[in-house]
Amino acid sequence: MNKLVLLLVDGLRADTARDYLGYVQALNEAGRAHWSNLRCELPSLSRPLYATVLNGRTPLDHGILGNVQAGQRCGSTVFDDLAAAGRSSAVAAYHWVFELLTGAVFDPLAHRETALPQLGIEAARWYWEDDYPDSHLLADAEALRLAHAPDFLFVHPMGLDLAGHRHGGESTGYSFAARKLDMVLAQALPRWHAAGYDLLLTSDHGMHADHWHGGPLPVERDVPLVWLPHQGGAEAPAGWPATQTGIRGFVAQRLGCA
Ligand SMILES: [Zn+2]
Repeated sequence: MNKLVLLLVDGLRADTARDYLGYVQALNEAGRAHWSNLRCELPSLSRPLYATVLNGRTPLDHGILGNVQAGQRCGSTVFDDLAAAGRSSAVAAYHWVFELLTGAVFDPLAHRETALPQLGIEAARWYWEDDYPDSHLLADAEALRLAHAPDFLFVHPMGLDLAGHRHGGESTGYSFAARKLDMVLAQALPRWHAAGYDLLLTSDHGMHADHWHGGPLPVERDVPLVWLPHQGGAEAPAGWPATQTGIRGFVAQRLGCA
């Protein structure tokens, strides 16, 4: 039975992923990755596109159109697909994901480690400060994986988006955030691969030099979609998504959902 990690790197441009993720590129050069890009849906904003990745529909269709819609559910998600097929999940993600899944407003003191067993999410660690370090978030994810051995691990670090808002999408601060994430990934991914997990790496949206995103420019829309299977191989797997709306179905199919 397949196991999968979905690493949704917040605010990672396609060209920044290509140019600064040296460890991931080492796997690519060795024929152990399938590297492609996606053009994200619009508006190129976080909350709408977390919903698109998880729900499989565009923002116009699922109705999450901005970052201010606190406590609004996005409809069914890939977690419903997995739960219906008896597959377990664990999540280390920003609190907006909690809100999209539950329809509740996130309360840090109440919800920090709230599992969502009705969605098959046996364990979770939610963060709410944008400067929560990627290194800590990946360690959170790894602790959940080791404790619960989920079939699906959803990991969502914020460091790239934070650096882009502070310094802009063509700054040394932004590229350094990508380099840092790559170094953490070089510690985590060999462990995931050794345990039989395939990795799908992507992002919600890109980042303009003006410190923002939301519009249709390629720097704001083009994001990586990289497949790093635990057994290696550079071929696109069956059902490889051509659009961001296809990620839900791809994950569900990889994990044996009808
Ligand atoms: Zn952002």
